[in-house]
Amino acid sequence: MTGPLVRVGVFGAAGRMGRIVCQAVLGDPGLDLVAAVDPLHAGLDLRPVTGVDVDLPILPAPEALDGLDVDVVVDFTAAAAARENLRWCAEARVHAVVGTTGLDDDDLDDLRARFRASNCLVAPNFAIGAVLMMRLAELAAPWFSSVEVLELHHDAKVDAPSGTSLLLTRRLAAAATEREDDATAVQVLEGARGAEGPGGIPIHSVRLRGLVAHHEVLLGTTGQSLTIRHDSYDRSSFMPGVLLAVKGIAEHPGLTVGLDALLGL
Ligand code: NAP
Repeated sequence: MTGPLVRVGVFGAAGRMGRIVCQAVLGDPGLDLVAAVDPLHAGLDLRPVTGVDVDLPILPAPEALDGLDVDVVVDFTAAAAARENLRWCAEARVHAVVGTTGLDDDDLDDLRARFRASNCLVAPNFAIGAVLMMRLAELAAPWFSSVEVLELHHDAKVDAPSGTSLLLTRRLAAAATEREDDATAVQVLEGARGAEGPGGIPIHSVRLRGLVAHHEVLLGTTGQSLTIRHDSYDRSSFMPGVLLAVKGIAEHPGLTVGLDALLGL
C-alpha cells in the first residue's frame, strides 16, 4: 500500500544542488514537486533555467508559498538566505530539510526553539556513505592509538580543510580513548604533518584537478592499521540522503542534526 504523495518545495531551485534536488524529487513516485523558489530567477520558468523536466514558475520568496499546500521544503541556498527561509518554514508549520552549510551553533539553538509545530533536519553531508564513514570511524577510534584524516577535493574548492573533515575529526577526538604523542621533533617543511584538527588530530588537505570529494581516516596500532574511505563522484551522491530525509522528516520531531538518526545509527 502506498501513502499520500509528499508535496515538496525547493529553495535555491536554480542553484547547482537545487536543480538536482528538483530532478530527484520529480523522479520519485512518492513525491510531488509543487514549488521552486530562487530570487534572482523569479518569474522565469524552471524548465528553461535549469533543464528540470517540469512546468513550474520560479517564485521570489518563501512567502509566495503561503496558501500552497506544501509538506516539506528542501533548502540548498546560502546560510543568510537559509536563516530567513527557515523562519518562514517554522511559522508556516512546514517541515524543512536543510543542506545549506555555514549554520553555526547559535543558528541551531534558534532552530531548536522555533521548530515546534513542524520539524527540521540540518545535515552538513547528505551522502549516506560519508555518514556511515563517520560512524564507522567513531566505532574504531577507541581501538587505535594513532589516527590521521586525509581529505581530497577538486582544485576549485576555496576552503580547506573541508567541513566534513572537521566534523569527522571532532567526532574522532570525542571517541578516541588514548592516543600516542606525535614523535615528530622537526618539521623540515612547515605543514609537513598537516593541520592540527580538533583534539590535535592531523588533517591533510589535497587539492587536485579531476577529484570530486574524498575523505579517508587512517587508524593505526601495534602491527596493524585500518583505512576507512568515502568517495563522492558527483552531486548525485547526495540525492538518496535528501530523498530519505524528505520522506522521513515528519517522523522526527523538532530539530535533528545530521542524517544519522534517519539511518537508525
Ligand atoms: P549555488 O549553486 O550557489 O546555489 C544556491 C542557490 O540558492 C542559488 O541559485 C541562489 O540564487 C539561491 N538563493 C539565494 N538566496 C536564496 C533565497 N533567499 N531563497 C531561495 N534561493 C536562494 O550553491 P550550491 O552548490 O547549490 O550549494 C548550495 C548550498 O548547499 C551550499 O551551502 C553548499 O555548501 C551546500 N551543499 C551541501 C551539501 C550537503 O550534503 N549538505 C552538498 C553540497 C552542497 P542566486 O544565484 O540568485 O544567488
